[in-house]
Order: sequence, then structure tokens, then C-alpha cells
Amino acid sequence: MTHSHDVLIVGGGLVGASLAIALDRLGLDVGLVEATPAGTLPAVFDQRNLSFAAATVNALTALGVMARLRAPTGAIRRIHVSRRGEFGRVRLDAADYGVEAFGQVVVARDFGEALEARLDELTNLTRYRPARFAGLGSSEDGLRRIRITDAQGERELRARLLVGADGNHSGVRGALGIGVREHDYGQTLFVTRMRAERAPDGTAYERFGDHGPTALLPRGDRHYGVIHGVARDQADAVAALDDAGWCERIQQAFGWRVGRLLAAGERSRYPIVRMVAEDTIGERAVLLGNAAQTIHPIGAQGFNLGLRDALTLAEQLDGAADPGDPALLQHYRQRRREDRERTLAFSDQLARLTASDAPLLRPLRSLGLLAADASPSLQGWLVGGAMGFRGDVPQLCRGEGR
Ligand SMILES: Cc1cc2nc3c(=O)[nH]c(=O)nc-3n(C[C@H](O)[C@H](O)[C@H](O)COP(=O)(O)OP(=O)(O)OC[C@H]3O[C@@H](n4cnc5c(N)ncnc54)[C@H](O)[C@@H]3O)c2cc1C
Repeated sequence: MTHSHDVLIVGGGLVGASLAIALDRLGLDVGLVEATPAGTLPAVFDQRNLSFAAATVNALTALGVMARLRAPTGAIRRIHVSRRGEFGRVRLDAADYGVEAFGQVVVARDFGEALEARLDELTNLTRYRPARFAGLGSSEDGLRRIRITDAQGERELRARLLVGADGNHSGVRGALGIGVREHDYGQTLFVTRMRAERAPDGTAYERFGDHGPTALLPRGDRHYGVIHGVARDQADAVAALDDAGWCERIQQAFGWRVGRLLAAGERSRYPIVRMVAEDTIGERAVLLGNAAQTIHPIGAQGFNLGLRDALTLAEQLDGAADPGDPALLQHYRQRRREDRERTLAFSDQLARLTASDAPLLRPLRSLGLLAADASPSLQGWLVGGAMGFRGDVPQLCRGEGR
């Protein structure tokens, strides 16, 4: 007879791995299906620079993940938002909000290693890897049947709750018949690390250009984590630039706030498409993280939001008689609604506003930035996003609970 898990998570990326760690503390029997073989990190743990909101740092500290990071993180103490060629700007200082930092910058690869070290310590977790989600069987006797393929071929697993944390092209979402709304921003983001004349001092810079944003994040290794958005039809030409050409381009887009940009590391590129699932729950099933919503990275919200999905689900499952109970899943969806809707709107507004080059909008944008610099409510909007405290915040994010 096939073993039955309480929860089967498909996808051991940022959100799926974090959920597995959170559920282990509850003593649940959890299975984790990941396509990448043991000994190799999933490709998503690459050189991208992740801004962890303060809420995320609280939770990952409680889950024992921050302590496993071997590389230093970069504290975000100030945020500086401006637009090239325009006069407005927004400056936010964590000290004004009574906190030491809005969040921390962590390189995805370092985070992957820390998660892996923590996953290795778990006692209630069964890992299936390399194994791929292949489809769904029927759902009966209070169990969901899930087909996976691995080196032995196809086989069936059973669980009382299936979690789809398998990223933007989620096979679980498709198998559940949940539709997805897509919007292509027509943008490609380049990510790298750079050195400059002035080392990071805790300021995260976001500068909007005509075709996309340029951000410099304060990493913990005296480099800046650089994100540069370009119109899709320019992406090949930008990719072809040599290091000197790249430094010049970023210098032009960003300006001189950190002095001369001296050197850049390897560049990776990402086409940016928003994908929002029409529902986040199905029969004995939940979608989390990018499987539920893949958003523009500009507001640095994607993982932060996905982690709050995972931790809210873990709270709902704590002590539950049946992890797949429909009432429990509906309550989960309702608890996530406000944070999800507000965060989606925040990232989308930021992305569309910054990508638009309509000359008539320019003065409005500048005035908008000036207004935000002066207005506590607009600043509150930005800080709420930066720190990750929106809607019904899970206890671990607030630095409370077990
Ligand atoms: C350039 C860039 C910068 C970003 N910066 C930030 C930031 O600063 N802050 C922030 O919060 N977010 C940021 N994000 C977003 C963040 O990377 C995502 O939100 C996050 O990766 C989502 O995690 P996930 O676990 O849902 O999906 P993923 O990380 O994509 O993981 C999905 C996992 O599922 C596995 N998988 C897929 N299909 C199958 C299958 N059929 N069977 C088994 N396994 C499968 C994959 O191998 C992978 O391991 C950024 C994104 C980009 C592109």
C-alpha cells in the first residue's frame, strides 16, 4: 500500500523549501517533490539579489534559516527612489520608523545553500528528487492521488493536501484546471553585481528610466546588487555589451550617486511576464508563491509574498484534523486575499508607471515622487511594501509565535 503524506509539496524552490521547514515544526508528515537532483541547487537559486522584507527576515530567523547563511547579508537602512531627468525623489530612512533596517539583501544562491542545510536537518520530511510532477489521479477517501516520474518511471503518491509550489509555469495549476491571467511587460531585466568608487552604505537605490528601472542594492560583500530593466527589443544588444560598455550604460542610467562604477560580474537576464492564477485553491490543493502569482520584480515582492502564503498555510494547518479540509482551504484563501491583492496592485502600478515614457506623464510622475517624499500616507504605502506587513500578517513574520 502506498504511503500517504499529510502534505505533498511539488517544487523545492524558495517557497516550497521554506514551507517544508515551517511544516516540519508542526510534526506533519511532509513529502517534497523537486525536479533538480540531490547535490545540485534548483536553477532559481542563481545570482539574483533578493531583498528580504523585515517580515521575511523575522520569519526566516525563527525558522533557523538566517543562521545557516554563510555569506554576509546587506542591511537596507535607507531607500532612495528617483527618476532620470526629473526633479522629484523619495527618501525613506528606517530610523524614522523606529527600526534598524527595512530588510536585508541576500544572494539567491546563498539562500539556496542555507535552505538546503536546514532541509537536511528535518526529521519528518521525505524528499523525492529528481522527480517531476506528472499529473493528478482521483481524489477519494480523503486523499489526493499525485503521479510523479523519477528514475524508476511513473508512480503514484498520496496526500491529504497537495501544495503546488512549482513556479510560474506550474504543472499543478494546469492539472487542477486553474486558469492564469498573463501580462507581458515587454521588458527584460538584467541582474549582476557591481563595484563602485563608494561602497554600499545601507542605501537601496531605485532609479526609473524611460524603458525600465535600475536598482542598486547594498549587498553584504561590498558590491551592489544591480538590476537593470530594458525594453525587450534592446535586450540582445545589451547582452552583447562588454564590461566597459555595460558599466557605461549603468552609469548613464543610474547617475553618480555612488561615484564611478568600476567593475561588473556575470550578467543574467529574465523576460518579465506577470502571471496571476484565477484561484489559489482547488480540491485538496493549494497554489503558493510563483505558481499562484508571478509578479514584476521591481518592488522586490515575489518571494516575500510567497513566503507569507506559505506561513499562513502553515498556521492554518497547525493542529488541523484534516489538512485538506475545504473549509480550512477557504479560510486560507480569505486570509491571503488582502495582502495578495494589495501587493499585486503595488508591483503592477510601480512597473507600469516606471515603464511608461509618455512625455505628458513626466511632470505628474515628478510631482508624485515629490508628494511621496512629503506625504506620510504615500510613504506608508511604500514602507508597508518594503517591510512586508500587509493585511493578515503571519505570526512568524511579526517575530511572534513558534
Ligand atoms: C531578477 C529577479 C529578481 C527578484 N528579486 C526579488 C526580490 O528582491 N525579493 C523578492 O521577494 N522576490 C524577488 N524575485 C522573485 C522571486 O525570485 C520569486 O518570487 C521566487 O523565486 C518564487 O519562488 P517559488 O518557490 O514560488 O518558485 P521557484 O523559485 O520558481 O521554484 C519552483 C521550483 O519548482 C520546481 N519545479 C518546477 N516544475 C516542477 C515539476 N513539474 N516537478 C517538480 N519540481 C518542479 C523547480 O525546479 C523549482 O525548484 C525576483 C525575481 C527575479 C526574476
